[in-house]
Amino acid sequence: MHKPTYFDYHASTPVDPRVLESMMPYFTEHFGNASSKQHAFGWSADFGVEKARKQIADLLGATAQEIVFTSGGTESNNMVIMGVWESFRDQGCHFITTQVEHKAILEPLHYLETHGAKVTYLPVDNEGHVRPQDIAAAIRPETRLVSVIYGNNEIGTINPIDDIAEICTAKDVLFHTDAVQALGKMNIDVQKTKIDLLSISAHKIYGPKGVGALYIRKRSPRIRLHPLMMGGGQERGIRSGTLNVPGIVGLGKSCEILKIEGPAECARLREYQNYMFQEFSKIPDSLINGDLKNRLCNNISITINGIRSNFLISALKDMAISTGSACSTQSVVPSYVLMAIGRSEEEAVSTIRFGLGRFTTQNEVECGVRTFISAIEDLRKKSRLGSPSSEALNGSHI
Ligand SMILES: *Cc1c(COP(=O)(O)O)cnc(C)c1O
Repeated sequence: MHKPTYFDYHASTPVDPRVLESMMPYFTEHFGNASSKQHAFGWSADFGVEKARKQIADLLGATAQEIVFTSGGTESNNMVIMGVWESFRDQGCHFITTQVEHKAILEPLHYLETHGAKVTYLPVDNEGHVRPQDIAAAIRPETRLVSVIYGNNEIGTINPIDDIAEICTAKDVLFHTDAVQALGKMNIDVQKTKIDLLSISAHKIYGPKGVGALYIRKRSPRIRLHPLMMGGGQERGIRSGTLNVPGIVGLGKSCEILKIEGPAECARLREYQNYMFQEFSKIPDSLINGDLKNRLCNNISITINGIRSNFLISALKDMAISTGSACSTQSVVPSYVLMAIGRSEEEAVSTIRFGLGRFTTQNEVECGVRTFISAIEDLRKKSRLGSPSSEALNGSHI
């Protein structure tokens, strides 16, 4: 089977061969339960876990005790939202977040609203940033948590996280950020910022699926998070369940690689991104979404007026690209992120996202750009000629 070129690194990434290699012994020789403290099988599994904890901590500027393993970004986010709720529900619980978060933040919050939680969903500017002063103004005496996405998975915009963290700390409110997309694409140092909680996921950084972590700042008074999973008391009771040792070892290795190679990798992807912006700016009647400067180095989001994205995607069989976000590919529901930055419904369903990554080559980028532009020209030409396929195009102005 002919494989399309992969331009969907926001949805997932391949496991780096070095990561896979680090994991292999933990499926076989070191298969023990990391909680078995009585014998060598447990000790070697535990050794792998603790090494990984240190590798993750090192990438973030954290200490190993501040890292808790989870099953991924979704669980890390849920752990924060639900954990804060369970700890504070009896005293009144107000959350502040934004309209451009991942579903793994928005859905637990929607659920909690049906149970009495109060939630403020702040709007963003037309590039997708939340304004720190809006956060400050939304904080109330019963506000328990502010959660803001670091780098947006659809439009790539990076939020002013350090300023927001500063505001929250000054007002004595917990601050969480979903850094699943941002990790490795920028320097994140929890010692230099006041972030209290931070979510990461392995499969977005060339590690395996189904494993992630939550950074929980060690400070006094202690951050109180009621556990989501209860059982054997692993992870100091915050997250019970036998640890996914091979997955954790892989996440650790992914972080170690990012610490060394992340900056150079990002500089390379930034060049590809600039090239794509430059070429795409020549497409008539198109718009780049998000902040052009404060942006994830691997994201390109473009609205092609008059051409529905699902139609364009099926015309581009040789490219694995996505509409606004992976979660809404099956349906033609306009992306709430694109709507939040002021795109119309028409524009939102005419948007394509490219995600570049470690294994993207210059040749792939150049070919991809040419194929993309000629597919658009083709579709627009056909629609002017009034071919039957033109009904799939959604504008009369093309
Ligand atoms: C992928 C993603 C998640 C979910 O992470 P999983 O490990 O797939 O559960 C959360 N937030 C953002 C921003 C993401 O891109």
